[in-house]
Amino acid sequence: MIAPIRLVPLLPVSIEFVSSLAHPLRSVFHTEIIVELPLNNVLNTVYDNSRLQYNSTDLIRELLKRFSPTSSKVIGITSVDLFVPILTYVFGEAQLNGTAAVVSTYRLDNSIYGLDPDPILFFERSLIETIHELGHTYGLYHCKNQECAMHSSTAAEDIDLKSAILCEKCSEQIEIGD
Ligand SMILES: [Zn+2]
Ligand SMILES: [Zn+2]
Repeated sequence: MIAPIRLVPLLPVSIEFVSSLAHPLRSVFHTEIIVELPLNNVLNTVYDNSRLQYNSTDLIRELLKRFSPTSSKVIGITSVDLFVPILTYVFGEAQLNGTAAVVSTYRLDNSIYGLDPDPILFFERSLIETIHELGHTYGLYHCKNQECAMHSSTAAEDIDLKSAILCEKCSEQIEIGD
C-alpha cells in the first residue's frame, strides 16, 4: 500500500482547483487523497523582499512544522512564484524520498507569457507537476521517458511534452520502494 497523499491549499490558490486535482491523482498513485483545510499565513513567512518571490525550501520547512513526519505525503499547492537561491524560479520542490513537497501554478498559466488563457492546458500542467513533485517524495528520480511526469522540465513548453502519468518503470519503482 502506497502512503496516502495530503493536498494543502496555500491561499490565495483556489480551493476548488486544488480539490479538482484529487481524483486524477488518485488514479495515478492508487492511494487515498486527502484535501486539507487551506493555510492562510504560511506564504508571508517565506517571502523574499529582494527577489519578490517565495522561497520553496523554507516553504517545505513550514509545511513540515504543521504536518510533522507522518506515514503520508504532504504537498503544498500555491499560485505564487517560488524560487531557490541558485535558480530564477522553480515549478516546485520536494524532499527526495521524504514527506513534503510544494508546487506552484504561477508559471503554468499562459497569461504570464502574454498568451491567451487556456484552462485545460493549465490544469494539465498543474497536474503533471504535482505528480512530478509527489513522485520525488516517493523516491523517484528524473526519468528519461519524455512522456513520463518524472521527466525533468525547466520551461512550461517542456511540460506539454509530458503526460499526466508515471511510466511503467516509475510506477513499479514506487511499489518496490514501499
Ligand atoms: Zn524534479
Ligand atoms: Zn518514468
